[in-house]
Amino acid sequence: MEKRDYYEVLGVSKNASQDEIKSAFRKLAKQYHPDVNKAPDAAEKFKEAQEAYAVLSDESKRKQYDQFGHAAFSGNGSTAGYDFSGFDFSDIFGDLFGSSGFDFFGGGRSKTRASKGRDRLININLTFEEAVFGCKKTITVDTTEKCEECNGKGGKGEKTCPNCHGSGTVTSEQHTLFGTFMSKTTCSKCGGSGYTYDSICSACRGTGTKKVRKDLEVKIPAGVDTGNQLRLAGKGEAGANGGPNGDIYLEFNVKEHPIFKRDENDIIVELPISITDAVLGCKKDLPTLDGTVKIAIDAGTQSGDKQRLRGRGVADANTGRKGDMYVIIKVITPTKIDREQKKLFQELAETNLENESPFKKIKEYI
Ligand SMILES: [Zn+2]
Ligand SMILES: [Zn+2]
Repeated sequence: MEKRDYYEVLGVSKNASQDEIKSAFRKLAKQYHPDVNKAPDAAEKFKEAQEAYAVLSDESKRKQYDQFGHAAFSGNGSTAGYDFSGFDFSDIFGDLFGSSGFDFFGGGRSKTRASKGRDRLININLTFEEAVFGCKKTITVDTTEKCEECNGKGGKGEKTCPNCHGSGTVTSEQHTLFGTFMSKTTCSKCGGSGYTYDSICSACRGTGTKKVRKDLEVKIPAGVDTGNQLRLAGKGEAGANGGPNGDIYLEFNVKEHPIFKRDENDIIVELPISITDAVLGCKKDLPTLDGTVKIAIDAGTQSGDKQRLRGRGVADANTGRKGDMYVIIKVITPTKIDREQKKLFQELAETNLENESPFKKIKEYI
């Protein structure tokens, strides 16, 4: 993901004053501080705001940023942007959160909880027929599974972390001009879990998960359409610390059919007929989803006339109820006629073919 502009992160203009920058950051910090906001992306947003503030509140760093953008801080082989871990936020947070302590990096205040694995969204292309009638697909996904060697723990011989005594965090005091603040950070030895292991699992190198490529057999129900999603519960990535797997969502993209158009569960088809068939009436073969049927075209049919064939549409993906088919008649004026046909049309033209009301209507204005 591309890094957002620091000014945009804080929601201030390029020439904002230090007071404006400070108050914008205070507002965001209040909103996204992991102590108060439990939304999954809050910690990330909080961190983003912290980083932006650390740079823009320092005039010399701000100048560098204005000139070179994020590239100003991407030295040391890191593209992560400005490293603000040594930055002192205590004057901001001191009065925001009292002396209860704050956590620079969100999370890690307690033992790492079990969390659900990540969901995945996979786009699937379907032909018109596959969507209408349903189909079976084999989908290859690269995902993660729980490491069986260590049962997802990442190590063997579990014991309480000696560094944090199982709490997952370490507390340190910070002395600043404004007083002393307690700051809690994630324990670096156990990564916040509160446990360490006698040995790291060699099979998964301590991650607790392993990468797998697997084939999923999926039954796609009849009647799905572009934009519909199908959830494959528990087929996503492995959860952390014994949490459940994520889900896979399949999103369909259905290819257009040369003659059938879909309007939800209805099918619309255009049927071309000749000018003589329109005048005299006829019977025509019509392709439908379940084979060819004969339909009667009345004498005097106009271009654009519609016929409805009940139950000849698509079965609803949820209820199975079938939609209808709409046949739209299109009278084709011939453009390639031979001499004989032209003669017949000329004879016809000498007779009066303009008795219908639309002709009369326009003549009133001529
Ligand atoms: Zn620890
Ligand atoms: Zn393992």
